[in-house]
Amino acid sequence: MSSLPPLPVALLDLLRRAQQADNELGTALRADAKDPTPKTAARLARARAAARAAEVWRGAWAADQGTAPPATAATASRTLLDRYQQAVEDLLRAADVCLVQSSAGKDSLYILSIVVEVARRLGMLDKVIVVHCFLGEDAEWPQVAELARRQAEHHGVRFVQVAAPGGLVALIDKRGMFPDSARRLCTSTLKRSEADKAIAMILDALGITRHAVVLVCMGIRAEESPDRRLKAPLSVNTRTSSGNRLVLTWYPAFQVTQTAVWQRIRDLGLEYHPTYDALLFRLSCIYCVLAGKSHLVRAARLAKALGLSATERFLSLEERIQHTLKPGLSLARIVAEADSLDAAEGPLTWNRGDAIDHHLGPGNAARWAENLARAQAAPPPAVPALRPVHAALPGARPDWLTLPPTAYTRRPRLARPAALVPDLPDAAGTRPLF
Ligand code: SF4
Repeated sequence: MSSLPPLPVALLDLLRRAQQADNELGTALRADAKDPTPKTAARLARARAAARAAEVWRGAWAADQGTAPPATAATASRTLLDRYQQAVEDLLRAADVCLVQSSAGKDSLYILSIVVEVARRLGMLDKVIVVHCFLGEDAEWPQVAELARRQAEHHGVRFVQVAAPGGLVALIDKRGMFPDSARRLCTSTLKRSEADKAIAMILDALGITRHAVVLVCMGIRAEESPDRRLKAPLSVNTRTSSGNRLVLTWYPAFQVTQTAVWQRIRDLGLEYHPTYDALLFRLSCIYCVLAGKSHLVRAARLAKALGLSATERFLSLEERIQHTLKPGLSLARIVAEADSLDAAEGPLTWNRGDAIDHHLGPGNAARWAENLARAQAAPPPAVPALRPVHAALPGARPDWLTLPPTAYTRRPRLARPAALVPDLPDAAGTRPLF
């Protein structure tokens, strides 16, 4: 049970708008200094007025928190968010809708089980929706989308799938180059913007016409990389938040170790994707542009063992666009290395449960298999009906919501998702994974 007061969402939103007004003022100042025109002067005047109006956050902070306001809106926002980053119950209570963005990988599965456990205890399971961004047939490992759906069903929550037309292959083909770490168009175009569209659509479906609080959960863990360690586990998504929604991004497993993730999967008998059994440590795209060479070589061996068409498709793509999968490393070279390892060691083989034994030690796979059989024998819980949401942002005061429109971020133009598949065909849901 949390000892914190309810998350002050209205204050957070006010701080978000103040930060955006500050950013806009900075941009307007730079534009006017670089090339002053009547247009830049007018923009600057508007930005100054908006930034002044947004200063209302200082009084709001003093009234709400009972202390002197921090120096900047950014510091104030960080102070609040840091306080609530581990407060699962408070975050769920504050949210109108809680989206678990799932790749169907182990970390997504872990956070789904945590969020569902708490939401069920609070009687708020109806708020939880799993969103999977499908990247295309030859981009993802087989049955990833089916598994994401099954994982949602197993936990008794709604499942929504979104997909950009053509997926990863079409994106690379169109641009004539593979994405890389500096230009991660694959995540921004195929995942982030599709997930943003899903948020708009879900809010539409819920009939929310006023300011909504959206909690987006992602399976990011600090341990994964030095870059990830620097991220904030709870933040306001200023890109997606708008005049009608405050979007919070939350990493529920930020401080959790890989071992703890596998322990929970074992203990709860959760169904994970078999690529992990072939000792690939991430359920990424088959040929992820960010993966290291050894991962990619192993992926090529697994793709061959499974008879997947993805390798041929990506090889011909590389050939056609004359651009390599990674800077200085072609897929052709990766496949050649995979072939020579296959020739030396024989084709890749694995058994179901190998990932569990690998991470937790011998004997654990058997425990996981027993727990999985038990969990799958129980009928999946029914998905609770959607509940209409409350009519006003809790804690909002009229003067906080009457800032001039320029103090708000420009609202992103959100079309409906290119593909929205609330349910895959039933038969797919019961097909065994490879
Ligand atoms: S898994 Fe890799 S290739 Fe696929 S979308 Fe993410 S970064 Fe891009």
